[in-house]
Amino acid sequence: MDSGVGAVPGLDDLGAAIGRLLGRDRTGWSGSAHSAELLALLAVRERLDAAIVGLAGVWDASGDWAADGARSPVTWLAQRAPLTRQDAATLVRTARLVHRHPETAGALAEGSVTAAHVGLAARAARDRAGAFAEHEVALLAVAHGLDPSAFRVAARHWAGCVDAVTDRHRGDEDPDGNVLHAAATFGGAGHLEGRLDPVSYRALLTRLDALEPPDPVDGARPPQTIARRRADALLRLVHGDGRRPRAAVDVIIDADTLAGRVAVDPGDGCCELAGFGPVSPDLARTLACDAAIGRVLVRGRSEVVDLGRRTRMVSPALRRLLEVRDRTCVEPGCDVPGTWCDVHHVVPWWAHGPTNPANTELRCRHHHLRRHRDDPVRFRRVGSGARGDPPARGKVS
Ligand SMILES: [Zn+2]
Ligand SMILES: [Zn+2]
Repeated sequence: MDSGVGAVPGLDDLGAAIGRLLGRDRTGWSGSAHSAELLALLAVRERLDAAIVGLAGVWDASGDWAADGARSPVTWLAQRAPLTRQDAATLVRTARLVHRHPETAGALAEGSVTAAHVGLAARAARDRAGAFAEHEVALLAVAHGLDPSAFRVAARHWAGCVDAVTDRHRGDEDPDGNVLHAAATFGGAGHLEGRLDPVSYRALLTRLDALEPPDPVDGARPPQTIARRRADALLRLVHGDGRRPRAAVDVIIDADTLAGRVAVDPGDGCCELAGFGPVSPDLARTLACDAAIGRVLVRGRSEVVDLGRRTRMVSPALRRLLEVRDRTCVEPGCDVPGTWCDVHHVVPWWAHGPTNPANTELRCRHHHLRRHRDDPVRFRRVGSGARGDPPARGKVS
């Protein structure tokens, strides 16, 4: 990316000031001098953020981002600026709020609220645009009197109140009022956030709590939190009653990464879950090991080496045998029921380990992942012989 601040008219002074700052010799400075400089810089950054948000609003409305074929201002920014997609989405959301609400734009420009306050307001105003327009002035007054942390709580409270009123008026005539936002993170987790009408909300919680009631308190182990039990119950609904996932999911894994070799081009060694995005190599290896999940072995960015069969290599008969034999996850002390466990290959299939009772065991996802993380020699390193090599080029299993 072009980092030349001076390339844009009017920004040469800024570029020069930043240059001096980066080269400043601070030897002999007192701790309080450091504190003062840090606070001053953060204040400058805040004003810079305010200017960026204002500009981004005008730019977004101009539609110039579409000129070179970008699908949205967010993709345009994520491809050209040092921003994650999520940060780009936050910037565009905040910029739109400012652009569409002159009172907010004025408060941000004069500094009575900060860019952080406006970002929090934009987040709270998502799906609540009408209510925000109505309460804009009051919210700005609240923001002016609170630091960003306290305003975050206030904005959430405001959103909750708006929803409570909206839901009361919504009744049956707005069946589209339910929303579920889903976002994938690189850590391999999905975040869900949503809003349900009161009847659906109660019905869902009643169903979830019936599926995963609290454990009897026997002192043997700490009770599960209600949040954890509800998540487990939701997954039971998704996967069918107590059974393993049936949804067709493919893990796309680089053949070299699978075998523990470092890809020549780091961009090539990626692993991802189709329809989700990148996941860590450990998680990809764990998912590929189970074989209940489809797997696509690739080399580089485009060559498909092995299109694994979606149908399970683990036959229902083998699965049943393991559930009877192991009963629970085989990790000592773990009591996750076998129906919930992955089938782990003791010698991985990509090292030509057979899928039979002697070479397989049941492991819960947590202990399965740990096994692949903790035993790098066995599961990652390629030996000098064929063991550990993924299927040869062009071979289709
Ligand atoms: Zn495994
Ligand atoms: Zn376990």
